[in-house]
Amino acid sequence: MKTYAPLDVTFDHGKGAWLWDTEGNKYLDAISGIAVTGLGHAHSAVTDAICDQAKTLLHTSNLFNIQYQQLLAERLTNVAKMDRVFFGNSGAEANEAAIKIARLFGNQRNISEPAIIVTEASFHGRTLATLSATGNRKIQAGFEPLVKGFVRAPYNDLDALEKISSHNKNVVAIMVEPIQGESGIIIPDDDYLTGIREICDRNNWLMILDEIQTGMGRSGAWFGYQHYNILPDIMTLAKGLGNGMPIGACLARGDAAEVFQPGNHGSTFGGNPIACRTALAVVDSIEKEGLVKRAMQLGNTMLSAFQTRLGSLQHVSEIRGKGLLIAIELNQTCKELASEALKKGIVINVTADTVVRLLPPLIISDEEASMIVERVCELVESFPNKKRT
Ligand code: PLP
Repeated sequence: MKTYAPLDVTFDHGKGAWLWDTEGNKYLDAISGIAVTGLGHAHSAVTDAICDQAKTLLHTSNLFNIQYQQLLAERLTNVAKMDRVFFGNSGAEANEAAIKIARLFGNQRNISEPAIIVTEASFHGRTLATLSATGNRKIQAGFEPLVKGFVRAPYNDLDALEKISSHNKNVVAIMVEPIQGESGIIIPDDDYLTGIREICDRNNWLMILDEIQTGMGRSGAWFGYQHYNILPDIMTLAKGLGNGMPIGACLARGDAAEVFQPGNHGSTFGGNPIACRTALAVVDSIEKEGLVKRAMQLGNTMLSAFQTRLGSLQHVSEIRGKGLLIAIELNQTCKELASEALKKGIVINVTADTVVRLLPPLIISDEEASMIVERVCELVESFPNKKRT
C-alpha cells in the first residue's frame, strides 16, 4: 500500500557504516535505518547468530520454554536493572504492552478508568493505542475515534504534571521518551526525568520510558535514564535491539513486573529463538566493543565539529545532541536535503520538516565520523543557495 514515499534509491548490500545501491554507488550511512543498525551492516557476530540459528530452530511458540528468550531476558534485565521482560516484534508492540500493564495496574487498584499522561510532540507508534498516545495530530488525523485514557502534557514541564496530579485521580502512569526522537531530538532539562521519578513515587504512578529510539547505547548510555540516578518502572525497546531483526521488548521492575499473568498478553512470534539469539549477539557486541562509551565520545566530537562549522550560519537555528542522536535544526523546511545528501554519497534523514537528524551506527571509525561531519556541513552550508536556484 502507499504508506511510504521512498527516496529514489534501492540499496542491495552494506558493510559496516557503508551501503551500496543497485547501480554500485557507495553511501555513508548516517541514519542506521532510523536508529536500528547500531552495529552497522553485516556485523559478523549478528550474521553468525542469524545463520547458525536459522540452521537450528526458527520458531516453536510461547507454548514452550525458549532458551534464547530466557538468556536474552537475563542479559537485558541485568544491564537495565529491571526484573522481567515481555518480547514482541516492534516498538509499537512494546509500547502496547506497557500501556496494557499500566491499565491492568490501575484496574487492580480499583481505578476503573485508568489514564496515562503522555506528552506533546511525542511519538510512540502507529497502532491505535500508540498513535492515540502520540502527540502529533498528523499521525492521528482520520483514525478517530482514538483510544481513550491518555492525558496530554507539554514535554519538559514538571509543573504541568504536578497540576494534573492535583486534580486527576485516574492517572496511573506517565509515558515519555527520555529524548524525543521523531519530533527532532528534543532533549529535556537535566532535572526532567528525575522530577518525573519523584512525582511518580509520590502519586504511586508508573514511570514508563519509551527508549525505542534512545536505547541500546545510542545516547551514550545503555538507556537514556542511565544518565541520571533513576530507574523507570517500565521501559520499552525495539530498533537497535535486533540490529535489523524485528524484535521489541517491554521491561518492567517491581510491582509493574508482576502485573501480567498467564493469559493477559501474548504474541505468536514474540521472543522467538532467532530474534532473541540475534538480540543477544547485539547486546554482547555492544558490550565487547565498548560502544556505549564510544557513542558518547563520538557524539561529543561530532557535535562540537558541527557547532564550530555551522553554529553561526543564519539559516541554522540550533545544533543539539546526546551521544549519537544529533540534530541540526534549520529555520526553514529542508526535507529536500535527504535526497540532496544521496547525491553526496551520504544517507541522512530530515524529521519534523526542519531538522536534519543524524543517527549513525555506533561502530563508525573516527575517519567515518569526520566524513559524515564534512558531507553534512557541505550540504547544510550550500542549502539556502540551492533553494534559490
Ligand atoms: N517509539 C519511538 C520513540 C520511536 O521512535 C518509534 C519509531 O520510530 C516507535 C516508538 C515505534 O516503533 P515501531 O516503528 O518499531 O513500531
